[in-house]
Amino acid sequence: EAKARGRSRAAVYEHALADVAAAHMQLEQGLRRALELRQLSLHWQPMVELDTGRLLGAEVLLRWQHPELGAVPPHRFIPIAEATGLICPIGAWVLDQACAQAAAWQYAGQGLMRVAVNISVRQFEQEDVLHLVRTTLQRHGLAPERLEVEVTESLFGNGAAMRRVLSSLRDLGVRVSLDDFGTGFSSLGQLKSLPMDRLKIDRSFVSDLPHDASSRAIVQTIITLALSLGLDITAEGVETEEQRRALLALGVTEAQGWLFHRAMAVEQMQALLLSQA
Ligand code: C2E
Ligand code: MG
Ligand code: MG
Ligand code: MG
Repeated sequence: EAKARGRSRAAVYEHALADVAAAHMQLEQGLRRALELRQLSLHWQPMVELDTGRLLGAEVLLRWQHPELGAVPPHRFIPIAEATGLICPIGAWVLDQACAQAAAWQYAGQGLMRVAVNISVRQFEQEDVLHLVRTTLQRHGLAPERLEVEVTESLFGNGAAMRRVLSSLRDLGVRVSLDDFGTGFSSLGQLKSLPMDRLKIDRSFVSDLPHDASSRAIVQTIITLALSLGLDITAEGVETEEQRRALLALGVTEAQGWLFHRAMAVEQMQALLLSQA
């Protein structure tokens, strides 16, 4: 009887595995066609001055509207896009769309100071990101100073090659920002030698402010580090007035988060730009 139960538990487990695999396969198959079927879109999340709320720029965030599954969150499909290499065509499309829109605003005289685009480590490994960025900026006539690329610490495993690409991007005038800072494994030594303009303090440290002493210490340390390396700082995921005040007291001047704005469709972003002009 125990044996039968064991077997049936194994069967249940196998079914669960099969379900997971099937769901994964459905996402992967769907993602292969998402671009051509126009299911992908960009949302824009403003970056603001922490003490006034003034608009400083925006980060573009990818959205996938699946016909049966509805809105699939990035944390479910970006890893699949990365594992399959689909992140390359998708990432190129994101950059193209973001630059096209930012250039349209630039020429209409209602430009964003900064548009930030996430670039996956897989894109750096698999293609010539410098060439991609340069040709995309040229195609749309967007001023390089208006583009910021967001990369993560996982990039640094690739060492010297990566450093060259990032510094060539900066030579173009594009800014480089280190996303989700504090969650990766980069050593301080690596950070020192990196061609960077900005650190984005990860939301996980911001969310426990102001009461959690260790989060406060970590944020304080990141700020001290950034200042001594001459880097700008953006705090991610600011949701409450208390967090805003704590960050201000710690010396942070820029932020992103639901306290100010959620990521929004392009029409709303445009309305916001107009209202601040
Ligand atoms: P990220 O680049 O760190 O983006 C910030 C994430 O935090 C976004 O989630 C944003 O909506 C969310 N967020 C912003 N403010 C708040 C807040 O106050 N509270 C909370 N709880 N969340 C906030 P989203 O849009 O789900 O994106 C998740 C991640 O997916 C991004 O993290 C980024 O790593 C990745 N991603 C999104 N779009 C792209 C893309 O076009 N290319 C690549 N390679 N990755 C992307
Ligand atoms: Mg980002
Ligand atoms: Mg981030
Ligand atoms: Mg993040």
